[in-house]
Amino acid sequence: MHYPEPISKLMESYMKLPGIGEKTAARLAFYTVNMNEDDVTGFAKSLISVKRDLHYCSICGNMTEQDPCEICQDKSRDQSLILVVEHPKDVISMEKMQEFKGLYHVLHGVLSPIEGTGPEDINIPDLIKRLQNEEVKEVIIATNATAEGEATAMYLSRLIKPSGIKVTRLAHGLSVGSDIEYADEVTLLKAVEGRRDM
Ligand SMILES: [Zn+2]
Repeated sequence: MHYPEPISKLMESYMKLPGIGEKTAARLAFYTVNMNEDDVTGFAKSLISVKRDLHYCSICGNMTEQDPCEICQDKSRDQSLILVVEHPKDVISMEKMQEFKGLYHVLHGVLSPIEGTGPEDINIPDLIKRLQNEEVKEVIIATNATAEGEATAMYLSRLIKPSGIKVTRLAHGLSVGSDIEYADEVTLLKAVEGRRDM
């Protein structure tokens, strides 16, 4: 049996999302047919808007509607402290905690020899530039506690330390392999407070 073309087209789109196979895509597509028109229009508009209206901050690499982002523009934040994370969603997790008042730098990935990801492939060169130009006294490395996250932290530490800037790593209140994204606010706060020298 063939699906009507609008359905099969929509299914193809849903199947581009992570973890969605044909069965789920069919269920979602038929569900969409029965949604009210305003909801469907809103859904389509949101999809377009995340691509059209969101950019990466030219300073820190965070996701933003304006460049530089709100955090980089906020002069009341501690300009001497940069917290390095893997993904924009980690910034959101940290900001929810409402305790960290420094700046961020988003790497957009981690070093991975297996996947051939080197320092130039992620946002490391821009971090080094920032450290040369800005009044940074401490870099907190908050990559995840995975093998790649640890290797990236080690690499950054070796790269930054000779410049005399303090390099610290989040405490492992975050269990091994756990993501910042999933840590609750208390755990995250403890991890920042208990950060250790690298
Ligand atoms: Zn920024």
